[in-house]
Amino acid sequence: MCGIVGYVGHRQVLPLLMEGLRRLEYRGYDSAGVAVIQGGRLAVVKKQGKVRELDAALPVAGLSGSVGVAHTRWATHGEPSDANAHPHTDAGDRIGVVHNGIIENAAELRARLVADGVVFRSQTDTEVLAHLIAARPENSLVDAVRAALRQVKGAYGLAVVDAARPEAIVAARNGGPVVIGVGEGEMFVASDAVALLGHAKTVVHLDDGELAEVRADGFSVATLEGAETRKIPQALEGEASGFDRGDFAHFMKKEIAEQPEALRRTLLGRLDHRFSTAHLGGIELAAREMLDIRRVKILGCGSAYYSGVLGAHLIETLARIPAHAEPASEFRYRNPVIEQDTLYVAVSQSGETFDTLAAIQEVKRKGGRVMGVINAVGSTIARECGRGVYLHAGPEVAVVSTKTWTCTATAFALLALQLGRVRDLSAAQGARLLAGLSALPDQIAEIIAREAELAPLAARLAGSQHAYFIGRSAGFAVAMEGALKLKEISYLHAEAYAASELKHGPLALITSQTPVLAVLPDDDLLAKNLSTIAEVRTRQGPVLAITHPGVYAPDVEAAFAVPRSEPELDPILLNIPLQLLAYQVAQGLGREIDQPRNLAKSVTVE
Ligand code: GLU
Repeated sequence: MCGIVGYVGHRQVLPLLMEGLRRLEYRGYDSAGVAVIQGGRLAVVKKQGKVRELDAALPVAGLSGSVGVAHTRWATHGEPSDANAHPHTDAGDRIGVVHNGIIENAAELRARLVADGVVFRSQTDTEVLAHLIAARPENSLVDAVRAALRQVKGAYGLAVVDAARPEAIVAARNGGPVVIGVGEGEMFVASDAVALLGHAKTVVHLDDGELAEVRADGFSVATLEGAETRKIPQALEGEASGFDRGDFAHFMKKEIAEQPEALRRTLLGRLDHRFSTAHLGGIELAAREMLDIRRVKILGCGSAYYSGVLGAHLIETLARIPAHAEPASEFRYRNPVIEQDTLYVAVSQSGETFDTLAAIQEVKRKGGRVMGVINAVGSTIARECGRGVYLHAGPEVAVVSTKTWTCTATAFALLALQLGRVRDLSAAQGARLLAGLSALPDQIAEIIAREAELAPLAARLAGSQHAYFIGRSAGFAVAMEGALKLKEISYLHAEAYAASELKHGPLALITSQTPVLAVLPDDDLLAKNLSTIAEVRTRQGPVLAITHPGVYAPDVEAAFAVPRSEPELDPILLNIPLQLLAYQVAQGLGREIDQPRNLAKSVTVE
């Protein structure tokens, strides 16, 4: 689930591995380790905790060698500890393995190995791999790994080194991302191409069931069955500067601040003023095909799901196509009915979210049509979908999403506009929305500049253990995302509720100790929202609001007004103060903002 880096070449490997690990830190992890082939032996250092703790545990002289692998672990089997950290080795410390994912038949394999006299040094599922590979008689490492993997069930991305055969790293993938970075006289392996930015100009993504032998001067890829596969390296997009916090205290703050720029990139080249529509080239749908769509189903997890809830609302409103979002993690397990005239849309920042990937694989297997809304170019879901919308938001390093939520919501507005304009949405309506979309980046910048005005709201939330976030219709999608953000980084209990539903249950919990944050746009539901607020006030619940200038809401204790956009686009702006609010609360409480406890950036396990 977490990070892998490997290098084979002519340079000292340790600094490269450590830099790669730092790049992967954002994914959230609990321990880290390196293995370097040094004088024909494997030198391993591993540590529970952060990469800086691993750094401190390294011998003063470092580790010397030009082949090695490194790992950040997100524990699934065995508590986070030095012993359970990767790399794992065989008894002779010859084979070193780093692994992301879960070996499902590990217990059975372990029992068999123990019966053969193998002594285990960790509780992980991963360690069985090192022993299995070490026991293989094959001549080459790649053949030994292939033979070992034939005995293994489960999901993995892995990289293996062998001190006795130091010329290659072997990488394999089944469900966990692996990329090979191509350099000159040197090669890299990683679980995430961001680790390779600045080092490799081109990359090769492994597909499930593939194994690669990676040498300094080249690589070869074959399937688990042994059939060679031809891979064409692709350009690696992105810049290493995305991984520098600059003067910001946290990546989250930097990424909030980057939103105007990120959004300009999402919009770039996609506003078609001549025909008052949007132009999303990558969706590869002719007008005729767009007309044939009878339903849209959006699949994602966490924030991606909530952006999909807003997306569905936009599509239904602007294109008048029934649209619905569902957590991909639920969809995939309920034997869903797949319809030919439904457009399935997968949403994932990383493009590696396992549940979302599994959901669209299920859709495709049943003959459904899928497209992606993805940030990471060339990622697994992007490749699986084959078509869709790239956000171009730049790397998002903080575990919680901010700029990618905004860019995803906007990508849905573009999709809704494009679908709408082949149907009943008039050119005048299209032009109105294009103007609204163009204004968003500057309006977001304005909100960010007024951040200090949120302090009274933040103080009220920080002083409570529980909060409700309420909204109606698209405002409910915003409330859900806002509550999630607060939970994720402040660890306060925040619950989103449809404002209309409050009186059907949770009103029983409202007291002076439960602040209610209302998403309160000046739209046709304003009067309804104000009634709900009055009901909360009657029970002494303190009310905070994100609203529009000029809204008269005497029951509200503290409010922040966002600039007006077009009504359909208002939710995108209403969400921005909620990001800042979560940040302020978490900062006030002294939380680990960029890497909240127990969470990982891209969830590549089930
Ligand atoms: N299942 C392995 C472990 O618990 C790998 C975890 C990971 O993906 O980081 O050690």
